[in-house]
Amino acid sequence: MTDQEERRGELADALAAVRGRVADAARAADRDPGEVGLLAVTKTWPASDVALLTDLGLAAFGENKEQEGAVKAAELADLRPDAAPRWHVVGRLQRNKARSLVRWAHVVESVDSPRLVDALESAAGKALDAGERVEPLEVLVQISVDADPGRGGAPVDDVEELADRVAACEHLHLGGVMAVAPQDVAPEEAFATVWELAQRVRAAHPRAVTLSAGMSGDLETAVAYGSTCVRVGTALLGRR
Ligand SMILES: *Cc1c(COP(=O)(O)O)cnc(C)c1O
Repeated sequence: MTDQEERRGELADALAAVRGRVADAARAADRDPGEVGLLAVTKTWPASDVALLTDLGLAAFGENKEQEGAVKAAELADLRPDAAPRWHVVGRLQRNKARSLVRWAHVVESVDSPRLVDALESAAGKALDAGERVEPLEVLVQISVDADPGRGGAPVDDVEELADRVAACEHLHLGGVMAVAPQDVAPEEAFATVWELAQRVRAAHPRAVTLSAGMSGDLETAVAYGSTCVRVGTALLGRR
């Protein structure tokens, strides 16, 4: 067996296990497992792994650094020219990276300030004019449940106003909200807060239905609290 064949087998097993966990969690919550999408967080892993994951049927990939994502997206386009991956940015983003990011990213999940919204709106407009992208940039507002400035995310009280600001942008599409459960709060409590906010954002913006929540360690709890997309790195690809 070649290294690639061996890695493909590892990834296939891990993917089946993650899909099983998501399906079990959905059924336990009386939800349809088909309602919960899977974003493979491929940060630090090579494009060859992303290529194998596309062979296994995945199409959504998450990166947390603009430059690493840009390089990997280009490498994947060479490795699998027929694949149609959707690249999500899940990490803290500096405004000066917006213009390069809109050349390759489909979704930014980590939007947490009015200034970042404005930078992405302007960058997406320029990229559309230049023919560098063909669709608006999808944006999720990242919620900071404990308002810890270190990890990113907007404080709970600012989320609805930020969502309104995204929705008013011509070149952005408000997809919904995203959250990372803080370590010092029980995940049930954190995801309950996130669920409630997601409902309020949906009430104001009926198309903003995405609730991106849950990672390798807490995806069951997130699915119990309405997650429509779990973001999984370690449980799929291994320890970084
Ligand atoms: C790295 C990362 C993940 C994946 O975390 P794992 O614990 O490896 O599954 C999910 N979301 C965000 C925002 C991340 O930075």
